[in-house]
Amino acid sequence: MTSDGKKINIYANIGSAGDVGYVLENDAGGIGLFRSEFLYLGREDFPTEEEQFQAYRQVVQTMGEKKVIIRTLDIGADKQADYFNLGKEENPAMGYRAIRICLKEPETFKTQLRALLRAAVYGNLSVMYPMIISAEEVMRIHDIAEEVERELKEAGVPYRVPEQGIMIETPAAVMVSDELAELVDFFSIGTNDLTQYTLAIDRQNQRLEDFYNPHHKAILRMIKMVVDNAHKCGKWVGICGELGADLALTEEFVDMGVDELSVAPPMVLKVREKVRAM
Ligand code: PEP
Ligand code: MG
Repeated sequence: MTSDGKKINIYANIGSAGDVGYVLENDAGGIGLFRSEFLYLGREDFPTEEEQFQAYRQVVQTMGEKKVIIRTLDIGADKQADYFNLGKEENPAMGYRAIRICLKEPETFKTQLRALLRAAVYGNLSVMYPMIISAEEVMRIHDIAEEVERELKEAGVPYRVPEQGIMIETPAAVMVSDELAELVDFFSIGTNDLTQYTLAIDRQNQRLEDFYNPHHKAILRMIKMVVDNAHKCGKWVGICGELGADLALTEEFVDMGVDELSVAPPMVLKVREKVRAM
């Protein structure tokens, strides 16, 4: 809470189940980005539904009433696993990755969704989908999620349909965020990818460091546009990219009306202090 009463939630980003301890140690209000890829990387074959269910359940149970936003599979580009057989691509960052794989290979996606809907029974779980570019994709995701729900119901397996949001990390998603806001419960802005795609700068290429400017007006205007479009529809917006932890921008984000910042666990306290000092 700022001194003039504006409220913003400060959550933490994590990349493995083992990181939950850091989230609690640093007293984050929740987990704003749980990168589920760690379950898929460094192994020979797909994780089973049961393995995923146990991992998600453990995290949501440990967090108790606090919100845990689990991002569905964001594999491809810099995150590779041989058994996906993704093949070599000229431009992997703009290639077959994340939600594109999930929509083309719905069985893999459905396994993850089943584990998530089952784990949702045990705590305050939300799900978010990465790399969205269109309303059509979101509608297809909802169809698949509804199919999973029907199957769990018919099989008599306990489940809960969690809050569902999308990541805004492509310029296309920003430009149609008015339409997207009608279809989802929340947005989480992935400024790492949004900056790379907007500035046409490969985030992995160190040679371009001097050109990589996440404070570029284009990025800040996009964030404002996304917040306004979400709020017009009564939806909340977080930032889960690294820019969320940029203390030089905290005040601007609060003024824009950003509802949540998700940052690396060691930054939680610093961002909270910055907000309180405002
Ligand atoms: C982002 O793109 O800002 C983001 C949070 O996702 P990742 O860094 O995992 O691509
Ligand atoms: Mg991203």
